[in-house]
This record gives sequence, structure tokens and C-alpha cells, in this order.
Amino acid sequence: MLHLQNYINGTFSPPASGTYLPNINPATGGVFSQIPDSDERDVQAAVEAAQAAFPSWSVLPAEKRGRHLMRLSELIDQNLDRLAEAETTDNGKPLQLAKTIDIPRASSNLHFFGTGIQHFASESHFMEGVAVNYTVRRPLGVVACISPWNLPLYLFTWKIAPALAAGNCVVAKPSEITPYTAHLLAELCVEASLPAGVLNIVHGTGPKVGAAMVAHPEVKAISFTGGTQTGKAIAQVAAPMFKKLSLELGGKNATIIFADCDFEKTVDTAVRAAFANQGQICLCGSRILVERPLYEKFKTAFLEKVRNLQVGDPLAVDTKLGALVSEQHLQKVMNYIALAKEEGGTLLTGGERVRMEGRCANGYFLQPTVFESLSHSCRTNTEEIFGPVVTLRPFDSEEEAVHFANYTDYGLAASVWTQDLTRAHRVAHSLQSGIVWVNTWLLRDLRTPFGGMKQSGVGREGGWEVLRFFTEPQNVCVKL
Ligand code: NAD
Repeated sequence: MLHLQNYINGTFSPPASGTYLPNINPATGGVFSQIPDSDERDVQAAVEAAQAAFPSWSVLPAEKRGRHLMRLSELIDQNLDRLAEAETTDNGKPLQLAKTIDIPRASSNLHFFGTGIQHFASESHFMEGVAVNYTVRRPLGVVACISPWNLPLYLFTWKIAPALAAGNCVVAKPSEITPYTAHLLAELCVEASLPAGVLNIVHGTGPKVGAAMVAHPEVKAISFTGGTQTGKAIAQVAAPMFKKLSLELGGKNATIIFADCDFEKTVDTAVRAAFANQGQICLCGSRILVERPLYEKFKTAFLEKVRNLQVGDPLAVDTKLGALVSEQHLQKVMNYIALAKEEGGTLLTGGERVRMEGRCANGYFLQPTVFESLSHSCRTNTEEIFGPVVTLRPFDSEEEAVHFANYTDYGLAASVWTQDLTRAHRVAHSLQSGIVWVNTWLLRDLRTPFGGMKQSGVGREGGWEVLRFFTEPQNVCVKL
């Protein structure tokens, strides 16, 4: 059986504990690999390797650092099929999705920051006749990148690429639930001749490896994507140590549909926004708010499309929904389905586990599920479910739509559907949400600030924002 290894100081090594954890294919329920059950000793070795690599990596011209990242991007492109299959095996997502979204985006992340760093400039401020100030942006040193299971290589590289581009050395941890593509990335780092110690990947659980990375005094910044509760735990440790923190956390996003929307486009995209990646994208629109005159027509068209979504083997080309990531997560989502019923929701479609035949007989499949008749303030409509479960709710005015949309502790993303552009802008500005899409969803420009308000996080990724996060500004004031 495949045994993944840590990647520390440019070489593959077993965990100090000598023990491994089983890694399960969620489509089959079978163990397909073993991952290192690392601990603080492995984190210590990774931090030391990163510290040793920092003096030479940080002074390498940005162009040369950029070339390393672009080489990795090329290798990801060349290994697209292998990486996509690995992602699907590990995560349960449809292979088509891994091939068209996850892996191409991982490549783009490295390419984007490999080129972007060459245009990153700092400011100067002139005090007429008195002084000139200039700002230098220095890399921080050793930084930690911790990522979740839902978009494994996509989010892993979204952090690593800007951290390295800015001149830092990285200790990174993928989710223990989906570590496979991070391991393959390490192999590509060797092939790309990335200098030893610049990137170190330590596998293992959050409480052992993640917590040790966060608490390590030599780790200067933590870039974390994951659940809000984990974000809180990280902040409690990191804040008193004055570490820089970027926290990309959960969401409970609204899809707000006005009666004057472009109907077909809206229905199609609302379905995709609800169920892409089995609803396991932090940006998924799980609360669909529809202006009352359109409600019944929308409901009929939406349900028809949802019932036609093929749940199946992630390797099959016509599969639209693959497996949920784990049995534990499936159980969590099923508990929310039970809760929605308890809270008085009407089940319109779905709600049941799907039992397959053949190789996927023990996989974690769930029907796409839609509820209505739930209040905007109930737990189903305010807590993150992170699965293929959405609610429909009518609204009577723009103010009511905004009130419902904002009625959650989260504030990550929203989409607004209307042909009235003035209203679109007005609603966008009223939403407590880090990202608002108008007449689209998940259209990403990597230059834009990415992140959430309220309990969806602290800080922004993307573009210059993340390069600023991964650098320390120093102002030099020169008297004239
Ligand atoms: P999680 O918080 O359980 O785990 C995320 C990562 O943190 C994993 O690598 C885990 O091992 C590690 N971790 C766990 N405990 C830790 C600790 N005490 N210290 C340090 N690290 C620790 O999240 P998950 O279940 O993997 O991912 C799902 C969550 O991620 C959802 O809430 C989703 O909304 C969120 N998410 C947010 C974004 C975003 O950009 N805002 C993107 C994707 C996913």
C-alpha cells in the first residue's frame, strides 16, 4: 500500500513517531494509502529546514523565485491527469471537476504569483522639501500554511505560492483527510529542483501537527483555511505571540434572486452554486432567496434540474455529484437534514443516503437535498452545513432579502440576480459579505481581495493583499 511521507529539507522522510494513519477513498470506503502521523518533532525538523533555507531564498531575485514557481506550474500541467485522479480518489469529487477546476487552478496559483511577484512594488511618500519616506517590504521568515480537504491542491497552492513568491520559507500542512496531492506536489518540487528547505510539507492531524506549527515561536505568520471553530483555536494561541494571521473560515452564503433576473441563467447557476463539489465549497450558495412573484416558477424549474443531477461514481463522466468526503462528514450533513425536519422544514427533494452498486457500494453518497418553509433565523439557515443541502425562501422586498441574507454570523460570499443594475449595486453594498457576485457565481480573478467578514475570517487573500500579508513593511524616512 502507498505510504505517503513528509517532505522536509528536500527529502522524503517517515514521521518521527513511526506510525501512520489510514487514508480512505470516500467513493469506496476503502483504505488506499497510509499517511504519516507526525507530531511536534517533525514540525521542529521542518521549521529548522525552513530557517536554514531562508537566508538564500529570501535574497534570490524575485524573478528567480518566480521561475521556480512557474516551473512547478508547468509540471502540474504536465501531470494534470495523474493529479486529478489522485484528488478524486482522496476527496470523492467528480473527476471532471478535478480536471477542469481543481488542478488547473493549482497550476494558475503558482503561475499567477510566480509572475505577480515580479510586479510587486512598494510605496514612497515625499514630504516636500523635508524628507522622503520609502517603504521596504521584507519577507517574514518561516511561515505556516494550513489547508482544508474540500479543494485540496487548489487551496494548498493558493497559500504556498504567494508565501514563497514573497521570499518566505514555508512549513505546510494539507488536511489529513486529503493529503495525497500535496505528497505528489512534493515529488514535483524535487523534479523542479526547488532548493531544499524552502517548502516543507508535514502530514498529520490538526491537533498534533497544525497546533505545533501554530505554537512554534519561529513561525512568524499563519495562513489558515478551514472551519470557524478551528480558526478561533488558532487565534487564541497565535494572537498573544503577535503572529500575523490570515483566517479564511466558514460561510453560509445567500443566492438572492429578483423577479427580473435572466431566468434560465439564474436557475442553472443557482443549481451549480448549491451543489458543486457536493456543496462542499465555502462559497456555495446554500440559502436561496427568491422574490415572491417568481418563487413558484423558480422552485419548479430548480427542482427539476436538481432531480436530474446524477449522483454517482466520481470516475464516471456523467457524474455531477460524487461522494462526500468522509463517513463522519456524511453523518454530520444527515444530522442537519434531520434538524431541518425538526425545525419544520418541508423536504422538496432528496434527503437520503444513496447506496451504489459495485465498487462504490460502501461510498458516502447523498442525494442533493432541498428544503423550504424554514425561517431565516433557524439553525438550518444560519449554521454552515457544508454539504448538498439547501433551502428555498421567498422574500417580499429588497430590504427583506438583505435582512435575511445578513442574518447569520458568517459573511463570506453572496450572489445577486437581477437585470436592474442600480439595484444590484445597492444590494451588493448592503450585504455583509466579503465577496458579492452579480449575475454570476464563482467567477474568480486572482487579483481581487478574497476573504470573509464577520465569522468568515480575518484578512484577505489574493493579489497584492496576500503579498502584503506575507511581507513586513518597514518605513525608512530620509531627511533632505
Ligand atoms: P478544519 O478546520 O477541520 O481543518 C482545516 C485544517 O486545519 C486541516 O488541515 C486540519 O488538520 C487543521 N487543524 C485542525 N485543528 C487544528 C488546530 N487546532 N491547529 C491547527 N490546525 C488545525 O476544516 P475542514 O473540515 O478541513 O474544512 C472545512 C471548512 O473549511 C469549512 O468550514 C469551510 O467553509 C472552510 N473553508 C473556507 C474557505 C475560505 O476560503 N473561507 C475555503 C475552503 C473551506
